[in-house]
Amino acid sequence: MQLFHPTTIDEAVALLAAHDEARCIAGGQSLVAMLNLGLLDPPALVSLRKVAGLDRLTRHADGSVAMGAAVTQATLASAGLPGALAVLSEAAQQVAHPAIRNFGTVGGALCHADPAADLPPAFVAADARLTAIGPDGGRSIRADDFFLDYLTTALAEDEILTEIRLSPPPPGSVGAYHKFARVDGDYATVSVAVALTLEGGICRAARVVLGSCAAQPLRLDAADAALADTRLDREAVARAGALLQDAAEPLADMRGSADYRRRIIPGLVARTVEAARARSEAPA
Ligand SMILES: Cc1cc2nc3c(=O)[nH]c(=O)nc-3n(C[C@H](O)[C@H](O)[C@H](O)COP(=O)(O)OP(=O)(O)OC[C@H]3O[C@@H](n4cnc5c(N)ncnc54)[C@H](O)[C@@H]3O)c2cc1C
Repeated sequence: MQLFHPTTIDEAVALLAAHDEARCIAGGQSLVAMLNLGLLDPPALVSLRKVAGLDRLTRHADGSVAMGAAVTQATLASAGLPGALAVLSEAAQQVAHPAIRNFGTVGGALCHADPAADLPPAFVAADARLTAIGPDGGRSIRADDFFLDYLTTALAEDEILTEIRLSPPPPGSVGAYHKFARVDGDYATVSVAVALTLEGGICRAARVVLGSCAAQPLRLDAADAALADTRLDREAVARAGALLQDAAEPLADMRGSADYRRRIIPGLVARTVEAARARSEAPA
């Protein structure tokens, strides 16, 4: 297996295109485990660690945020992003343990697309846009359209995820992420990511996303609509939770049966929506 250390995105894209079945390696926290288990055997690895600028998180004056794909989960966890974007930092804080967050990258977690991972539902809740660059140029993919199936994304084999962009959070927006796990540091049995926009106690927009409840992050227009233009009263939140519960198709594994996971959904949705809502009342 060959290991390359490009220093520019162009060089990295060219290397990926030049070697059939080559893979990027970012933090190595999932890829190396898959190599060790014999699940992958790529002829070449293209490391992103030395690619200039890929590890930068930038807050623009208009409130938008851009982060390179190689920003570490630890950097995101401590970024203290405002408004609804807090869902991203809160999810990153709950990934595994510090040693993994120090190596693991945001881009690696998104591209690995593990349905039980913490960052995919959070980036869908935040309505992120992902920039992919390949031999034919760049394109932008909504997080909603990025996760296609178990460990499968919309990226072509010769594309690299280079950047994630987030629009300025609207005034009155709040976010929260809750993870139900067997023990601290484990993958989620069920997780919920929430981004709300509130105006005088009324929810004007909502994005509620489940993790570990389908092959990809699960968001439903109908569940979000059930919360919009309400005061997030118990009935509205229960309706959204029930819609998500009906749509969930969780896997059964050592973290819980499909039925057990489904039962957790309404309560965890209610807790996470309430945590986000309470933030809108907290003194600034
Ligand atoms: C013990 C342990 C516990 C963990 N617990 C959790 C947890 O609780 N929650 C959680 O969410 N995650 C958990 N993880 C996974 C961790 O978050 C990984 O860091 C993450 O899944 C992958 O990020 P990485 O930078 O290490 O990517 P890598 O392992 O380097 O790569 C992962 C995949 O993404 C591809 N890739 C990486 N970057 C790019 C890019 N920019 N463009 C295109 N393809 C790319 C690689 O080719 C590979 O297929 C755990 C990992 C371990 C080892």
